[in-house]
Formats: sequence, C-alpha cells, structure tokens
Amino acid sequence: MSAGAGVRHIPLRRCVACGQQYPQRDLVRIVRGPDGSVLVDQGRRKLPGRGAYLCRSRECWNQALKKSRLSYALRGDISPNDKGRLQEFAESQLSGV
Ligand SMILES: [Zn+2]
Repeated sequence: MSAGAGVRHIPLRRCVACGQQYPQRDLVRIVRGPDGSVLVDQGRRKLPGRGAYLCRSRECWNQALKKSRLSYALRGDISPNDKGRLQEFAESQLSGV
C-alpha cells in the first residue's frame, strides 16, 4: 500500500509516424550520425547524433520513409541508400500483417 512510492517512471517516446507514445524500449531509435548517414541504433542507444523513434509497426516505417516524416524528424534528407537499409530492417525485423 505504498502511495506513489515505487512507481517507476518509464520514459515515453513518440513514434514519428503514428504519433503514439510508447515506452522507449518498445521503440526503435533511428539516428543521424555525424557524417549525415541515417541508421538504426540497434539496442545500445549510445550512438551520437539526432535521433527519432519509430514503433515496431511496419506500417509506420513505410509511412515514415514514404512521407518524409523521418527526414523531417531528423532535420534533413535521407539518402536512398540509407532509406533502403531502413526498409530492409523493417522487412526483416518487424512483424507485418
Ligand atoms: Zn508508429
């Protein structure tokens, strides 16, 4: 019966595609590195640079890549190469319907 004590704060982040908030660990962080390339931060969340989050819905990834939501969130264009890699990640790692 602890009132408030022991309630752990879970950091929430917003998916840039659907706008929903999720616990940070349920999202995939995407980072623009110092050289301008965009990549998936796989797990460590230590990569420097500007980050954006996407939830694990493949639909969101498609939206983010097609509608430039990701490039907007990352403040700049994403090269076709990097886009291709993100698409690949989505197709191999995320469950689609
Ligand atoms: Zn989403």
